[in-house]
Amino acid sequence: MMNELEVVLTDLGLNFANDRSLRSRTTYKVGGSATCIVRIESDNDLVLLSQIVPDLDHGLLVIGNGSNLLVADGQLSIVAVVLGEKYKQVEVNDTTIDAGALISLPILARQVAARGVTGLEWAVGVPGTLGGAVKMNAGGHGSQTADSLIEARVFDLISGEFTTRPTSQFEFGYRRSNLASSHVVVSAKLASSGQDDPEKIKARLSDIVTWRREHQPGGQNAGSVFVNPPGDSAGRLIEAAGAKSMRIGGAEVSPKHANFIQADPDAKASDVISLMASVRDLVLGKFGVRLFTEIKLVGFADTYGLPSGT
Ligand SMILES: Cc1cc2nc3c(=O)[nH]c(=O)nc-3n(C[C@H](O)[C@H](O)[C@H](O)COP(=O)(O)OP(=O)(O)OC[C@H]3O[C@@H](n4cnc5c(N)ncnc54)[C@H](O)[C@@H]3O)c2cc1C
Repeated sequence: MMNELEVVLTDLGLNFANDRSLRSRTTYKVGGSATCIVRIESDNDLVLLSQIVPDLDHGLLVIGNGSNLLVADGQLSIVAVVLGEKYKQVEVNDTTIDAGALISLPILARQVAARGVTGLEWAVGVPGTLGGAVKMNAGGHGSQTADSLIEARVFDLISGEFTTRPTSQFEFGYRRSNLASSHVVVSAKLASSGQDDPEKIKARLSDIVTWRREHQPGGQNAGSVFVNPPGDSAGRLIEAAGAKSMRIGGAEVSPKHANFIQADPDAKASDVISLMASVRDLVLGKFGVRLFTEIKLVGFADTYGLPSGT
């Protein structure tokens, strides 16, 4: 049955998902439900949604592939926004790549490689979308989104305006940008670093995928839990603190990589966040180094002092 907000969305001509569960929309596969999940099929849908956003007393959450999110358990006062298929288009030219925000990074990396265009090899190992990569300044293997981004088209659900922002306006830092939860990246223009034989680029992609399989766990997680502190590695500190394989409920510090926390199929988000806090405290107590989360925490009443935010 539709709730009040879904009735309003319907009146506006907007679509929403019948299943309000957020767990299936994240790689952690834990957590509760949103008030509603709005499906954006066109730029006009964003404009329509912006008519009601300023008056909403719910949090806003734009979801890409949910590969950097830990969503709290229970019924959450959150309006989630997901982009539709239209936002998966890709155009690869010799020196630039134009892509919709919903395109998956591994698919983008492979499409670009097939055209003999270089510069996005790193993206094959990051299981997010391009929109999430812009927000998080995702990266790996010595590269990051900010290095190749020329500009991104962003809609602000509060002001109701589209802007095309050059890279300099994102204030990119390590795994961060200045985008707010009301900002929706709809597309981005990226620069290639050059051209190469597609077979050689594909070989580099294979090397990255192999390295990931060897060094990182699969299963239910959202990648690195903590940002590496300056000059050190969060994984090294966690392991040295004796937290590898530490467990709370259905959550475990990965035996393969200590900066990953795995969730069991029946885990609760509260297990994962409790373990995050315990690991942080252990490292702080042992080495005096405070770890900060890379994962975005969504909807928690108690974040154990871990910074939240989407
Ligand atoms: C196994 C594994 C390995 C990983 N390895 C890496 C790695 O090497 N390097 C790395 O940087 N990250 C890594 N990650 C984390 C994650 O994949 C990246 O942060 C990715 O960029 C998140 O993209 P997403 O689409 O999944 O974003 P989500 O998790 O859906 O969202 C993350 C943030 O981006 C926002 N967002 C998502 N889409 C949009 C949009 N269209 N417009 C505005 N905001 C948006 C969300 O609101 C949220 O704040 C890994 C994750 C996993 C599970």
